[in-house]
Amino acid sequence: MKHKILNTIIDILFPQVCSICGKLNQEGLCVKCRNMLEKLAIFEVTNENKYFEELISIFSYEGMVRQLLLTYKFHEKPYMYGCFVNFILKNKKIFEKLQSYDTIIPVPISKKRMKERGYNQSALIAKNLSKNLGIELQVGCLYKTKNIIEQSKLNKEQRKENIQNVYELKNKEILNNKQILLLDDIYTTGSTVNECAKILQQAKPKKIDVLVVAKD
Ligand SMILES: [Zn+2]
Repeated sequence: MKHKILNTIIDILFPQVCSICGKLNQEGLCVKCRNMLEKLAIFEVTNENKYFEELISIFSYEGMVRQLLLTYKFHEKPYMYGCFVNFILKNKKIFEKLQSYDTIIPVPISKKRMKERGYNQSALIAKNLSKNLGIELQVGCLYKTKNIIEQSKLNKEQRKENIQNVYELKNKEILNNKQILLLDDIYTTGSTVNECAKILQQAKPKKIDVLVVAKD
């Protein structure tokens, strides 16, 4: 009985609808909208000369995908993670690629931002990918020590400056020799994931790649 009530509450808080068309859908993304997203997907894998090796981008940060990500991040719609997770898991190419990692780490947000937003958009995606792919999730190791101005409000040089020394690492032995997949929602100049990867290198992992939902 207790579970039933709890599930009802969860259903109200997290409506099972397609995040794009709004029709009832258990998985957060209907077949029609998924097909539409498939046409927009780029699946680009690029080698970056940074603290990480590969950058895997699923979409370009434009049009409908941009709108979708902004709504997910800024309009109190945590349940929209389902849309992105569903898309990633149902695509053979990306699904196979992701299975080669040991650990998935979402880019952390500050305590203050967490309090305001109520959720870390990248962590929700990472958590559900981890569950479905059977890859270990690490959310505590890498953390953000201070709240900073939103990177999106700054130019390239300012972003680099702004993100310096805001992340720290604990229990780094857990990540030693691991193949790490660092996950973020949007990639613009790459300053954020590069700074995270720089700190993660302290753990001497085998490899760090970055997965982003969309690349600007
Ligand atoms: Zn739909």
